[in-house]
Amino acid sequence: MEQESLKRKNAAPLLQYRRAAPAETTAAPHGVTGSRDTGNEKKPACTPIPKFHIRCVGGGEFIDDPSVMNCPQGHDSLLRAEYSCRRLVLSPYSGIFRYLCWLPVTQPLVPSGGPVTLGGTALGRELGLANLSISFSGYFPECGADLTTGSFKELEALATLQRLRETGGKIPVVASAGNTGRAFAGIAARCGMPVVIVVPETSRHLLWTTQESRDVYLVAVKGDYSDAIAVATALSSVPGCVPEGGAKNIARRDAMGTVMLDATVTAGRMPEYYFQAVGSGTGAIAAWEASLRLRNDGRYGDRLPILHLAQNEPFTPMVSAWRDRRRQIIPEKDLPDAGRAVSQVMSNVLTNRNPSYAIRGGLFDALADTDGVMYSVPNAEGYAALRLVRDTEGIDLDPAAAIAAAALVQAAERDLIPRTARILLNLTGGGYERIGEEFPQYLIEPAFTLSPGEPREALIQDLKEWIVNHG
Ligand SMILES: [Zn+2]
Repeated sequence: MEQESLKRKNAAPLLQYRRAAPAETTAAPHGVTGSRDTGNEKKPACTPIPKFHIRCVGGGEFIDDPSVMNCPQGHDSLLRAEYSCRRLVLSPYSGIFRYLCWLPVTQPLVPSGGPVTLGGTALGRELGLANLSISFSGYFPECGADLTTGSFKELEALATLQRLRETGGKIPVVASAGNTGRAFAGIAARCGMPVVIVVPETSRHLLWTTQESRDVYLVAVKGDYSDAIAVATALSSVPGCVPEGGAKNIARRDAMGTVMLDATVTAGRMPEYYFQAVGSGTGAIAAWEASLRLRNDGRYGDRLPILHLAQNEPFTPMVSAWRDRRRQIIPEKDLPDAGRAVSQVMSNVLTNRNPSYAIRGGLFDALADTDGVMYSVPNAEGYAALRLVRDTEGIDLDPAAAIAAAALVQAAERDLIPRTARILLNLTGGGYERIGEEFPQYLIEPAFTLSPGEPREALIQDLKEWIVNHG
């Protein structure tokens, strides 16, 4: 069986290949002080080079306060980390912390998982795409995928919690449609770090951990994802708490960028095309930023991967705006009946009404910089892709990952990309059936359930008391 060869028999050689990095990239652990490739140039002994600086993409100025997420000068822009280490140096750690030199932390959070890059895939053969690689972030131990929360949101949770640990230990407040919350809950449980999570009540079933945790304060909101975001924003100003930050969080983006780094290091060069489903757009922005760093590195090619991104019909505001090459999303035009659209998609995590699209350094800029393409994927195609990946790779996908796979199927069927092109498909989650078989699952009970229009004072007071005991 062809697919069997990918799933189990070749697991060991595959892992060996993954770890066979280009010689120049294998190096000692990277510490707090980065090193520029400046040869033997002598530096003063007492002035270590900061590992990274933060720069405003819109205005170009450096930001002194590393804790801010918005430009102090008021630019509507993402802030971006610029690492002193221009060339990618691999660290001897597992998971995302193999790429510690391009993460805004000084130490790894262990144990940690990471993305896994698979080449020579049965899916590629089925679609007639000779050079398709898959990055999988979920649970499938035969190929080294060991994220027991089942989603690439675990990558961002790892880096975000480690960064908070290194910068003062405040408690992050996370708004989530389900997967991000579960990822933060899982890492919080593993590390004993407190976290506040706000989800729509309809997503409660997605909030479980594989080990018991008393460190999660879960708020269920009777509303949709946007309502959860509004409540999380209010809670993040409670003393001792900080907003997780979403796309504005550089730790989150650079952790997600390890998908592009791992695929590139594995292949020895950047892919030509990158496929992913997008809700907030953060993962795709992260992939683009990682490719900018790789281009600047100089060893992995000088052409940025072209972003091919998908949304789930009928919730497709970025598809609509990008079709017109418009930076601004116009709700009346791009998302005329948002409430109904949210209720009709197969992947709720893709229904962010305020994605990081227009902001400088956001998804519009990423698409423009790479001459990107947006796909609109109906549920029927998503479910067909779900079955296709299960049949070819043996993985039960998260619905969002199925939407990405369906976009690739569209591209193959319509000949939108050359058959021999080097393609990276980011499958952002899955393996839930295996997780359920191999681990206990503890459903997290809400500490508080909030009804529409209900005053938040009682919730805030309850949270303050919880912080006294857990903060
Ligand atoms: Zn600025």
